Amino acid sequence: MPRMSIDRQELLAHFDALLQPARFKDYGPNGLQVEGKARIERVVSGVTASRALIDAAIAARADALFVHHGLFWRGQDGRIVGWMKERLQRLLAHDINLFAYHLPLDAHPELGNNAQLGLRLGWRTEAHFGDQDLGCVGVAAYADAAALSSHLQQVLARQVLLVAPSGLRPVRRIAWCTGGAQGFFEAAIAAGADAFVTGEISEPQVHLARETGVAFIAAGHHATERYGAPAVASHVAERLGLAHEFIDIANPA
Ligand SMILES: [Zn+2]
Repeated sequence: MPRMSIDRQELLAHFDALLQPARFKDYGPNGLQVEGKARIERVVSGVTASRALIDAAIAARADALFVHHGLFWRGQDGRIVGWMKERLQRLLAHDINLFAYHLPLDAHPELGNNAQLGLRLGWRTEAHFGDQDLGCVGVAAYADAAALSSHLQQVLARQVLLVAPSGLRPVRRIAWCTGGAQGFFEAAIAAGADAFVTGEISEPQVHLARETGVAFIAAGHHATERYGAPAVASHVAERLGLAHEFIDIANPA
């Protein structure tokens, strides 16, 4: 099949139409973060616009990189020095467009990080909770939090961290939010969850779990956010006849 190409702004319009970034209050700009060549034929997707991913995109002769974690975040000091210079220099030297979508990519109801993680674990979203309704709640049927934890370890192929104060209590109502959503734990408890799954844990969540009896599982920020970017990029690339490849840069966090 002859490969198609598309204009940069048209591709941006397709991503925006799908992910609707205007609906979110986010920590950085969503959409085109770094302008590259005007015509795009090959898209590489990945989780984070790290130097390793940019190098891999260059090796794959990508015209565009589509990521969940882009380069620019609120609170940065704005100077293009050190690691930022290294990343930007590579993108600009190879004229690679960088598209980044943060919360809109977590939230998309079928292709987003939360939906795609739930799909792999057999959890269907019944309701939303937390800031901007990013968290998902669904029905589950685990004998206890340890069974949930081993299911996650098997699906994600990594160790997870479980704080399960209530021992053998069944998990019937599960709440989840990918990435660094440990701050959603109280909202998950208020939503009636027996267990909450996210990427990372901080010190306060251990106490909250012990004191409320709701299990907390930290399954990895990267591991829980590996699925949204390739789902969106392959969906769009397929519709437009573009080449697409997901490149996973391993990350233990
Ligand atoms: Zn994240």
